[in-house]
Amino acid sequence: MFNVILHFLDWIYYKKCYFCKKTSSKGSICDKCYEEIKENLYNRRRLINNIEIFSIATYKDKIQKLIRGIKYHNQKEFAFYTAQILYEFWLKTSYSDIDFEIIPMPSHKKRLKQRRFNHTELIAEEFSKLTGYSINTELVLRIKDTKPQYKLTKPERLKNLKGAFEVKKENYSGKNLLLLDDICTTGVTLQEMIKALNRAGIDKLCGLVISTPE
Ligand SMILES: [Zn+2]
Repeated sequence: MFNVILHFLDWIYYKKCYFCKKTSSKGSICDKCYEEIKENLYNRRRLINNIEIFSIATYKDKIQKLIRGIKYHNQKEFAFYTAQILYEFWLKTSYSDIDFEIIPMPSHKKRLKQRRFNHTELIAEEFSKLTGYSINTELVLRIKDTKPQYKLTKPERLKNLKGAFEVKKENYSGKNLLLLDDICTTGVTLQEMIKALNRAGIDKLCGLVISTPE
């Protein structure tokens, strides 16, 4: 009888790790896989329209699975782990003493309707709890339903993204803005967003993205 109860408790409290499929007491990611993700991080800094953009991982292996898990497979608790990883990185930068407002990369309303949530917003919410930064989803709107970028060349990407964002200046808090995105390939999406903000006279910006392709 005691064993039955133990098994039942196991079933309630223990889950399988989404990555290695072993039983994990921590939820959908076991300690070993979480540590492995952290061991493979790096600090890549690039400038897009003179704005500093930090990226912390290569879009492959477990990081890719983590992001895809949040985005397509309803693994919403991964937003917490992703934010935790971003936060540990953020504390090491010179920016961590500044008060920012987070701008998660907005989704077009048609895309939101299909997916029901914006995964970058979920990560931003968790990152906000850790940093104390506010989130602003009313300042930058995605007004053009752009095609997926991965099949396009850079000039095609530029054309695709042109006019994709609208900035509602009346919703600007005056704070430094931290642009948050999951993946930055050619940088065209962030570039267009930065341009739109600059046109509205907003230039206190910095970017944080989880990953870039190899
Ligand atoms: Zn695991």
